[in-house]
Amino acid sequence: MATGTSSQDKLIKTASDCEKRETRITKENLYMVLALWMERFPLQSSTGQSFKSNSNSKKFKKVGVVFVLPTDRVLATDCSRDGVHGVARVMVNHCGKLEGCKVFVSRKPCSLCAKLLVQSRVSRVFYLPIEPESEDEGELARADNLFKVSPVGQSVFVPCVEERVLTKDEKRLPVAITPQDVHICHEKLFEEWWNTEWIKRAQKCLPWPCLDIRMKSQVQSDFKSLMKWIAVSKAPMDKGIVFRRVKITEDFDAISDDCDANDYPDFQVANHMMIFAKMLARQTDDPKTGVGAVIVKGKDSAEIVTLGWNGFPSKALYGEFPRASDADAALETKFPYVIHAEQNALLVRNTKDLTDGVLFVTKPPCDECAPLIKLSGVKTVVVGETRKKSQRGELSYDLIREYIREGIVTCYQMETRKTQAKRSASYPEIRKKLKSS
Ligand SMILES: [Zn+2]
Ligand SMILES: [Zn+2]
Repeated sequence: MATGTSSQDKLIKTASDCEKRETRITKENLYMVLALWMERFPLQSSTGQSFKSNSNSKKFKKVGVVFVLPTDRVLATDCSRDGVHGVARVMVNHCGKLEGCKVFVSRKPCSLCAKLLVQSRVSRVFYLPIEPESEDEGELARADNLFKVSPVGQSVFVPCVEERVLTKDEKRLPVAITPQDVHICHEKLFEEWWNTEWIKRAQKCLPWPCLDIRMKSQVQSDFKSLMKWIAVSKAPMDKGIVFRRVKITEDFDAISDDCDANDYPDFQVANHMMIFAKMLARQTDDPKTGVGAVIVKGKDSAEIVTLGWNGFPSKALYGEFPRASDADAALETKFPYVIHAEQNALLVRNTKDLTDGVLFVTKPPCDECAPLIKLSGVKTVVVGETRKKSQRGELSYDLIREYIREGIVTCYQMETRKTQAKRSASYPEIRKKLKSS
């Protein structure tokens, strides 16, 4: 194959990059995966997946939920905690905005959640074919009755992640992560969530008339593909994280390595949210760089108030905007048209007040986003990997450094241990100087 850089080559390269844009999961699958991931939201008071409602002694499984507005934007995401079921939490916190919402809940809801959903006139409720929130037969029958006499539809949602999506994701894994690491992670997730005994009874417990043997094995393999999709974002974090507070030194444009994140309130929440943001990043419209952002509010009982990824304006058709990056010099670049993850997140947040908000973002905020973050009131930013020079394109990243230096923003960085080792090795002289100072 020719390795020249003629404009013809660049056009071909751009075309192949554009095709990659399509290899991502559907929005519905993304919402369901986020709902499921929220089941793992770390709670200080509870252990494992079981969740005890305050009102009685019955055990309910912890569920995660995502509510999507009729405009296709996420209204809220949460999980069962503080004695309130996940669905009920969103409904109480966001009353008045629920009509017509699509609801993605990780497990078939109990009768309490079902009656609230029906009363709020959401449009449809989707849940995964795993054990329901309550396995009590009376609960299941009552929930079914409620849905039956209302116009609210309930559906078992069988996830589907196409093989080509997973193949593409594996190609983009950080160098230090092997397919074996992903495999270990995904098998573990599958074990935690999938109960073979349960699927035998699924037909009885879910409104699912045509679940035969062949379909059961298909459902199992589809569910497994979803676990693999999660594992791609989780496995690198499992390999070890360096989590520290970022300090910008006066004479160096660098991060100081010798300050730790001991003052950060909750490492577990941070870890959970960074994986959440990494999953969002894979939903990008940008063929080169995906960025995901989540804003969480409240230190003791963190609530997710918004999420976003970088993309073209909603409903933009393929071909309306240039898709080339600076590396594809032959074409007009996409940069002015892409709405950044932080911008999308700020625009759709479900609360105005972000004074105690924490922004989790997979890459550092650029100069276009930094003033918007400052204006929103967010004072704490947790970033994932740093941007390599080659990834920066036309964007600059001076303002966020300035804010950190001036103490306007407190910034933490979470990166995989391997990446950190590689980065440190590339700045030996800076490390030396920092250590001696
Ligand atoms: Zn419930
Ligand atoms: Zn930006």
